[in-house]
Amino acid sequence: MINIPKGTKDVLPAEVYLWHHVENTARACAERYGFREIRTPVFEHTELFARGVGDTTDIVGKEMYTFLDKGNRSVTLRPEGTAGVARSFVEHSLGGGVLPFKAYYLISAFRYERPQAGRLREFHQFGAELYGAEGAVADAEIIALADGFLRDLGLKNVALQINSIGCKTCRAQYHQALKEYFRPHLSSMCADCKARFEKNPMRMIDCKEEGCKAITAGAPRMLDYLCGDCRAHFNEVKTLLDGAGIHYTVNPSIVRGLDYYSRTVFEFTSAAAGAQGTVLGGGRYDSLLEQLGSKSVPAVGFAAGLERLLMVLSAENTALPDEAALDCYLAGMDAPCREKAFLLAQELRRAGLSCETDLMARSVKAQFKYADKRGARFVAVVGSSELEEGAAEVKDMKNSSSERVKFCELAQYIAKRKGEIENG
Ligand code: ATP
Ligand code: MG
Repeated sequence: MINIPKGTKDVLPAEVYLWHHVENTARACAERYGFREIRTPVFEHTELFARGVGDTTDIVGKEMYTFLDKGNRSVTLRPEGTAGVARSFVEHSLGGGVLPFKAYYLISAFRYERPQAGRLREFHQFGAELYGAEGAVADAEIIALADGFLRDLGLKNVALQINSIGCKTCRAQYHQALKEYFRPHLSSMCADCKARFEKNPMRMIDCKEEGCKAITAGAPRMLDYLCGDCRAHFNEVKTLLDGAGIHYTVNPSIVRGLDYYSRTVFEFTSAAAGAQGTVLGGGRYDSLLEQLGSKSVPAVGFAAGLERLLMVLSAENTALPDEAALDCYLAGMDAPCREKAFLLAQELRRAGLSCETDLMARSVKAQFKYADKRGARFVAVVGSSELEEGAAEVKDMKNSSSERVKFCELAQYIAKRKGEIENG
């Protein structure tokens, strides 16, 4: 037997409706906010992620699925969605079109990580990007979309934390202050932090190592170094969120240390997402598009991990829609009856009803058992007397009552009963 690769998962037919629920909720919410879907390739030139995600990040440093294709080009399975959207925006000169540009994506992403609960090598994201607007209202809109999506899913114990990491100007000063603070502790910090100290000291704030965390706790906070413009921008984001009734706490240790992040950064966390905690993360990245060769275009966005959301949905016992039941099962007693059942099933399907019929030459009893397992609402039985009469015996699987219904009226009958049930 060949097993599934480590860190990947099958979504089996019996559970796929949960994925559909999350995906449909994401689409509906994004579209309510005026975002349209964008689809970009699963793999891109490696260079895109090196430049667009940043080579000081864990993603580029150690997590990418990179390989040479048969033409000796280095390509990489996308580790996230933002870089591909940004590339597409630049490549299609969308900056010259209607702004703001608002797009969402539902994708699989690939990172070579140590698999554990909520951390996979192939995982799925819902993300949104908003390009062209630098004002705080764009940050508020992207956070409101993220919040709305989580609310639509019915999640309750998910907390929003926000922070501002300033702009290039105010961050330069902050980096100096951080370096001064960390220098005397550096020898007792992890190897990653030592490297971050040189390249991007702000990322030391984000370190998950216990020893480093203790040191980091006393580090200077970016919020105390914001320039006037960045402070005003952050205050306006908070005012808009307050006005919209979106609860948050300011957490100065959220940094999302990519070079191109600026000003607002945010995360939605839940204790139910395992050790990982973060179900959705995002922020403003005003220099990303420029980094990819565009003129300067401000940008803000987020990405949510769908596996972690599903974990939280189940941990919170969130009410979920039931799997759509089969409208009708067509049972046939013997070969000629099964043939009639098949033809009737076709009529029902053409009428927009979901139905199945026997494909295994089973007994009627076994067919009932199958229909029950598949959650069929009605079972229409065709036996030899029914065949002669031109009518099926239709059983209501909820209350076991049954009724004779002419073959030519069966589709109409099931549709009518279904309508009655749906309308209570
Ligand atoms: P973490 O700190 O947990 O590694 P991250 O900062 O690397 O997360 P992002 O790049 O911000 O994550 O991705 C956005 C979201 O995608 C995360 O909040 C998480 O829900 C999800 N995610 C990231 N990596 C994985 C993974 N390996 N498996 C499952 N979900 C993931
Ligand atoms: Mg990560």
